[in-house]
Amino acid sequence: MSYDFVIEQDNIGKMVSYYRNYLENTADSRILYSFKSPDFKIIIYNTRKVLFQGKNNFEEYEKWAKIFGVEVTPPVDYSSYTNQYASQRIIGSDEVGTGDFFGPVVVCAAYVSPKDLELIQELKVKDSKALSDQQIIALAKQLIEVFSYHVLVLPNEKYNALVAQGYNMNKIKAYLHNHAIKKMVIKHPDYQNIIIDEFCSPENFYKYLDGEKISNTKFHTKGESVHPAVAVASIIARYKFLLEMDKLSEEIHITLPKGAGAPVDAVGKVIYLKNGTAIFNKIAKTHFKNFDRITK
Ligand code: MN
Repeated sequence: MSYDFVIEQDNIGKMVSYYRNYLENTADSRILYSFKSPDFKIIIYNTRKVLFQGKNNFEEYEKWAKIFGVEVTPPVDYSSYTNQYASQRIIGSDEVGTGDFFGPVVVCAAYVSPKDLELIQELKVKDSKALSDQQIIALAKQLIEVFSYHVLVLPNEKYNALVAQGYNMNKIKAYLHNHAIKKMVIKHPDYQNIIIDEFCSPENFYKYLDGEKISNTKFHTKGESVHPAVAVASIIARYKFLLEMDKLSEEIHITLPKGAGAPVDAVGKVIYLKNGTAIFNKIAKTHFKNFDRITK
């Protein structure tokens, strides 16, 4: 069982100095810091999400939750999924790439029925944020063989054009989720509920879609822990995103970093000095602050 919360930028330093003796190196570009002891593993992500794993993880989680005034949430057990959806046929959807300066936004919807749950256990499907890129790739390759899904890639050029037209990130997400879900509804009209990993209020979601509604749509934060359909969608989306990043990296002959941190600015600067500004329309989300820093 793992626990997590998101912390303020100013609080990262407190945790780093407290755990400095447990600091370990990581090649995962989504990770800011990783600390490991025999009792716990704590990961601070670029997104400021802090993940607590290991046998005494709850103690560490609870301690900091109190210090930072975070409400202690009940444990999330990815192996049980005991809730009202457990015995239902579910379409789950999730997106990735929205926090990454480089690369597309990818949305995936996946269908999971109760007869798949054994396989879900067997493959150890879990929160994609707790998996390394290598684990994502290995797992996704198995998932795409056995599960029904629809994945959408919004290339940077199109994304930037939509932003120029006045679309905000959430409106773009809403459109993509809706589109992927509609494809799955056609394929699986026997679905009982749709679970969207919540990124904005349901009210706004429907506003973005001009009131278009698909019946039995539910919104849940931490959707991955609510039903494995969301977890499967999330892992496939992440996998597709990684493939797209590889493709873009090959095209411009430089490995594009993920996230929106300092390595992104550094690589961006190299690309800018070599190619100028126009190329960013094809490889990056140009409304991110990174773009102004890189091109000034
Ligand atoms: Mn999500």
